[in-house]
Amino acid sequence: MGKKVLVLGEMRDGALRNVSFEALAAGRTIANDGEVVGVLIGETVASQGQELIAYGADRVVVVEDEKLKHYSSDGFAQAFLAVVEAEGPEGIVFGHTALGKDLSPRIAGKLGSGLISDVTSLEGEGDDVVFVRPIYSGKAFEKKMVKEGIVFATIRPNNIAPLEKDASRSGKVITLSAEIKDLRTIIKDVVRKATEGVDLSEAKVVIAGGRGVKSEDGFKPLQELADVLGGAVGASRGACDAEYCDYSLQIGQTGKVVTPDLYIACGISGAIQHLAGMSNSKVIVAINKDPEANIFKVADYGIVGDLFEVIPLLTEEFKKLKV
Ligand code: FAD
Repeated sequence: MGKKVLVLGEMRDGALRNVSFEALAAGRTIANDGEVVGVLIGETVASQGQELIAYGADRVVVVEDEKLKHYSSDGFAQAFLAVVEAEGPEGIVFGHTALGKDLSPRIAGKLGSGLISDVTSLEGEGDDVVFVRPIYSGKAFEKKMVKEGIVFATIRPNNIAPLEKDASRSGKVITLSAEIKDLRTIIKDVVRKATEGVDLSEAKVVIAGGRGVKSEDGFKPLQELADVLGGAVGASRGACDAEYCDYSLQIGQTGKVVTPDLYIACGISGAIQHLAGMSNSKVIVAINKDPEANIFKVADYGIVGDLFEVIPLLTEEFKKLKV
């Protein structure tokens, strides 16, 4: 039997994040021949409704309020719960992003539903959907099914392929007037470090540096390689602790989880806490001077050598391929 599934369209800097389209694909699998309803929350977000429809939403519900200009769990929970009350969904999907991780337990708690978080794939369809998620820092996978109540899941970015965009799809974008009560936390301004280029958690190629990079300047060849490949630079906690780079680049158990198509680990030993954030990458290349380094155990391709010699060579070769 088909289900009605709400999928949150997550915005960043005025545009929908890619994970929203992946969440729509997951929503479609859960809904089967039911209805996928996109949800947009913010101050002025309705203009993104058609984009959600092009990626698989049957229609879109928008909640707009000046109190929702910046994300707050309080405000977004009020808005999303208003949509739940109006729509009575049987399924909900969020991205497993900082926002999704913060908001989903609050919504599940209010609804008294379960929550399957950090899903990396779905098997089957409709009532028979099996959710696959990593456990023990990615060393094993567990499979879960929901037998009763709302099917609520967050999906890890870069794991579930979005449906093909079809700009000719049509559907209604309706605005729900929801009362957003005074927020306990008022965000006056969001101050962010200016970052350029590709978002690390959604990047298809990640060039990560560890303590072996040796200095802030040591990250420059990694950035050059990332630029040539259209990727993002990441880091181990070793590199962050040594102040070679910002903690926003940290990948691992206490940093970001990434699943790019290509992960190049440069001067990273491969501690279990680092592997927790990258071992599900599709292809892993490790560059390390130490042939016994643990990172080689998870690498598809290993290069034993000095990263300062190997990376410029790779950059030059990739540049040639692009010409
Ligand atoms: P090192 O272990 O010092 O490795 C450096 C590597 O560089 C070595 O293998 C060396 O052979 C190689 N090298 C040196 N020079 C060169 C060169 N010129 N060319 C090529 N190779 C070279 N770590 C994370 O990364 N992410 C986390 O989220 C995280 N969370 C943690 C949470 C907890 C609770 C704890 C206790 C630890 C956590 N850690 C995390 C830290 C983790 O245990 C390791 O200490 C850290 O990952 C090591 O970083 P590294 O590999 O860069 O440094």
